[in-house]
Amino acid sequence: MADSPQIPDEQSRWRCAHCGNLTRFDITRTTRVREFWHLDMAGEPAIDEREVLAETIESVVCRWCGAGDRVEIVARPAFGGPADEGPGDGGP
Ligand SMILES: [Zn+2]
Repeated sequence: MADSPQIPDEQSRWRCAHCGNLTRFDITRTTRVREFWHLDMAGEPAIDEREVLAETIESVVCRWCGAGDRVEIVARPAFGGPADEGPGDGGP
């Protein structure tokens, strides 16, 4: 795949075109963040705020069948997409 994978928006979701999986994916992503670390007097940090400055999805791989180039974006059920994990095309 030439283009980097896209993140679904509020009206869409991922679907594996090979096996039909709608819910389980391995996502590899690079995220650049700025965090507000709040340390207590003992020196233990807690992250109070986290702002994502940039994010790149490197790959979306189907957890079921391992397909890395067959994951497509489809509409969510409320917007006309599939509600069940039906079979995909089973192709290569
Ligand atoms: Zn799959």
